[in-house]
Amino acid sequence: MPTRDDMIIFSSVNKSFGAHHVLRDLDFVVGRGEKVSIIGPSGSGKTTILRILMTLEHPTSGQVMVDGDELWNLHTGQKPKETKAMRRTRSRIGMVFQQFNLFPHMTALENITEAPIRVQGKSPAQARQQAMELLEMVGLAEHANKRPAKLSGGQQQRVAIARAMALQPAVMLFDEPTSALDPELVGGVLNVIRDLAQTSDMTMLMVTHEMRFAQEISDRVVMFDEGVAIEDGPPQQIFGNPSHERTRRFLQAVL
Ligand code: ADP
Repeated sequence: MPTRDDMIIFSSVNKSFGAHHVLRDLDFVVGRGEKVSIIGPSGSGKTTILRILMTLEHPTSGQVMVDGDELWNLHTGQKPKETKAMRRTRSRIGMVFQQFNLFPHMTALENITEAPIRVQGKSPAQARQQAMELLEMVGLAEHANKRPAKLSGGQQQRVAIARAMALQPAVMLFDEPTSALDPELVGGVLNVIRDLAQTSDMTMLMVTHEMRFAQEISDRVVMFDEGVAIEDGPPQQIFGNPSHERTRRFLQAVL
C-alpha cells in the first residue's frame, strides 16, 4: 500500500523498445526525502527509469506515482496521452543530464532565470535574485554573464544543477552527472551534489558510476540488472556484503 511518505512509486512497470524488453515488471519505491543511487551495468534500464519520470519516455504498461499523484497508468497496447495533471506532476521534478543541455545562446544567469520567468511567472528581478543565490551556491557567481561555451564542462554542469534547482523541485534526478567530464572536473560537481544531499530535504534519485560517492551520500543503493532491481539496501550492505553474485561481479569490475 502506498503511504504519504512514498515520493516515487513504480508498480509493475514494463518498458519495451520494439522487441527489446528493457524494464520488467518493475516495482520500485523512493521515500520522501530519500537519497537513492541506482547502479548497474550499461543497458540495464537505469536511464529509462529517469526518462519515464521526466515523461521523456512512457512505460509500455504499469503505474508510476509521484508525490501522491499519478504520472502514468498504462495497460499494454494503450496509447499514452499527455494531460494537464501529468504536466503539473512532472513540474515537481528536476533533472540533471549527462550532457548538461544548457541553452548555448544564453548566459549562465539567463539559463537559470528562463523557466522561473516563463513557467512560474516570476518577475525578472525576482528570478535574477534567486539565480544569483543559486550561482553563489554552486560557486559560480562571478561567471553569471558568461555563455556555456566560455565555461568548463564542470562549470556548465554546476549551472545545470542550479537551473534545475530554480524550479524548487520536490524530486531531483541525476543521470550520470559526471560521466561526460574530464577527471579533474568531477570533484567540483560531486561537491555540489553532496552539499545538496546533506542539506536539502529534496528527494534525490541518481544514476551513477561513482561508487564511492554513491556509498557516501546515499540512504539506499539499488542494483539493476537487465531491467530488474536485483538488490536494494543501505550502501554498507550493497558495497560491503552484497547478496547477489551479479552485484559482486559488477562491483569487482568497477571498483
Ligand atoms: P542504462 O542507463 O542502464 O545504461 P538505458 O535505460 O539507457 O540503460 O537503456 C536500456 C536499454 O534500452 C539499452 O539497451 C538501450 O539501448 C535501450 N534503449 C534506450 N532508449 C532507447 C530508445 N529510445 N530506442 C531504442 N532502444 C533504447
